[in-house]
Amino acid sequence: MGAYWLDGRLGSHYPPLDVVVAGAGLKVLTWEGWQHRSRSSGGFNGVYGVVVHHTASSTSWENDWSYCVNASDGPVANMLLGRDGTVGIHAAGASNHAGKGGGSSGGGGAPWYCSRGQVPPDSANSYAIGIEAQNDGVGELWSPVMVDAYERLVAALCTAYGLRIDTDVVAHREWTPNRKIDPWGGSSPTAGHPYTGPRQWVMRGGGGFCDAVAARIAGGAGANEEENLIQYITPVSGGHPIGKSFARWPSGLLTWATNADYALAQRLKITDEKIEMGADQYENLCAQAGTTR
Ligand SMILES: [Zn+2]
Repeated sequence: MGAYWLDGRLGSHYPPLDVVVAGAGLKVLTWEGWQHRSRSSGGFNGVYGVVVHHTASSTSWENDWSYCVNASDGPVANMLLGRDGTVGIHAAGASNHAGKGGGSSGGGGAPWYCSRGQVPPDSANSYAIGIEAQNDGVGELWSPVMVDAYERLVAALCTAYGLRIDTDVVAHREWTPNRKIDPWGGSSPTAGHPYTGPRQWVMRGGGGFCDAVAARIAGGAGANEEENLIQYITPVSGGHPIGKSFARWPSGLLTWATNADYALAQRLKITDEKIEMGADQYENLCAQAGTTR
């Protein structure tokens, strides 16, 4: 069973999805039980990337979200992005959304090499966060508010989970080009987002989706509150956060970082130092912080 859950549970050192998405300034809804919902394999085997999709449906928010939760092969993806920019979170564990791909005979495509390693062929469900987005996939226009939210959402996920936009985010069609076309653009591009139409989304290079997300990651929101928080530290081992996270204040005092602290740090673009450390060093850091949570 996969070990990584994105619900902020004790022993899981990734921040919870609802906090991360809310920290991006997006409206968040959660489906009851989201913290424990997953495909049969349980949590993620690793948090290596993000796959972006469209739903290929033109039904209501309620219908689409219910399908994501209740489909026979559900949960479908981890979250649903609505036409109004709302994000519905329904699964903190691994979900079904990517299927065969990544260089397999059944799914085609190319091997997916992420910054944390290769996603094994046909196994993106166990390694990648899935985002479904309401669009019929046959020319429906993508509203500006929705595209804006899609960019902010992926930027927030990359920042919170230490993912790289250039290697760790793919379109479903990139994972399995023989089987899928999503995300497919509207009959004309969304104003200000030329990659969205009129055919498949341009993902890379020249004003593509990943460029737009990269600009958001780099831009930040500007530090205008909590200016005294000067550094944010996440112990990392093998590419994954371990142990507690810490905030370091100008006094040099280390404090445990709560999930709320983490969201704030991300919103303010405070440096997210990923520090590799051994067990002794980690215990020493814990002792300096002087408490447990
Ligand atoms: Zn898809």
